[in-house]
Amino acid sequence: MTRERLSARVRALKPSETLALSARARELRARGVSVVSFAAGEPDFDTPAHIREAAAAAIESGHTRYTEVGGVAALRTAIADKLKRENGVEYSAREIVVSNGAKHAIWNAMFTLLEPGDEVLCPAPYWVTFPEIARFVGAVPVPVLPAPGAYKVTAEEIARAITPRSRLLILNSPNNPSGAVYSRREIEAMADVLLRAGLYVLSDEIYERLVYGDARHVSIASLGPEIRERAVLVNGVSKTWAMTGWRIGYAAAPADVAEGMERLQGQSTSNPSSVSQQAALRALTGDAAPAAAMRERFAARRDFMVGRLSSIAGIRLIPPEGAFYAFPDLSERIARARNGVADSAGLCDYLIDEARIVCVPGSAFGMEGHLRLSYAVSERDIADGLDRLESALERM
Ligand code: PMP
Repeated sequence: MTRERLSARVRALKPSETLALSARARELRARGVSVVSFAAGEPDFDTPAHIREAAAAAIESGHTRYTEVGGVAALRTAIADKLKRENGVEYSAREIVVSNGAKHAIWNAMFTLLEPGDEVLCPAPYWVTFPEIARFVGAVPVPVLPAPGAYKVTAEEIARAITPRSRLLILNSPNNPSGAVYSRREIEAMADVLLRAGLYVLSDEIYERLVYGDARHVSIASLGPEIRERAVLVNGVSKTWAMTGWRIGYAAAPADVAEGMERLQGQSTSNPSSVSQQAALRALTGDAAPAAAMRERFAARRDFMVGRLSSIAGIRLIPPEGAFYAFPDLSERIARARNGVADSAGLCDYLIDEARIVCVPGSAFGMEGHLRLSYAVSERDIADGLDRLESALERM
């Protein structure tokens, strides 16, 4: 395929590995192959009925035109209420910008805050999209690796990575891909470092409601007025409400930053879907029980997956505390492979070919030797897939 017609920026953009692997699982299935895909980045549940009904009613009652670029007032107010009630941080409605998914909100935030050459600190493991957007803007993503055997970076490790070019830290807790949740104390220490160095923080809180056991989500913007002034908080309805296809996410930021993001959106996508905005409004203001029920299912699957993975020889796992992913370390098993598997990408290929299970390699998230396994997958598939994983590893 010729690529000469593409701009250098687009040529440099990596295709999303997680979306590509999900597509590969779909292709195999379409050919009649029995595949277990652990690549899913979305809940396997349907959007709750009361939200679907709100969308149908929105179409019938004429919510079919352009809206305000940054979202209708009722939705922005509902988001501001939610942030105050659940996250303990106050924003006015005009400090909220509703976008086409959280991913779009992250694009808006980076384009609004970054100059070419700025450094963006990306604690590893990081969601695949963060460094790609940073590079697209012309900024320089700087991975910050945790200590061996850890999934979280410390404030000291962040401090050591800061240079005069540093501008932004990307914090993602609960984390995709590791499921790690940063504690209040860890986030406070990080906020101190950021304030001292004059950095901004983009806090991706899309998995905030999916936390298990004793883990608690803390929004860095809630720690005080100074850090709130330096924070862009990103969230959305995709994961909590099983609404990935509706494309509604949002950012909350100080008024000048929010105004910049809205101006940018006004010259790119305009408003997110008018119908989806009404659906999101119902999600945020209506019955919370369906979301709680989905969280319970994820919690049970997590327990099962953690127990089963821990029983497989050659796997080391820090149990995930949030999101819907486990991120086991197989580096020792890879080092002992007798069949030529040399890294996490090679292991994923082997598992697709030999066991018909699809995982995402740790290398995609800046952490070699690991695999990401989603438990947004039916209980039966988890059990079957992990049996296949165990026997494929025995043969490796
Ligand atoms: N942030 C993280 C950490 C994610 O994992 C995802 C989805 N994979 C998103 C943002 C994107 O969410 P949305 O579908 O709302 O764009």
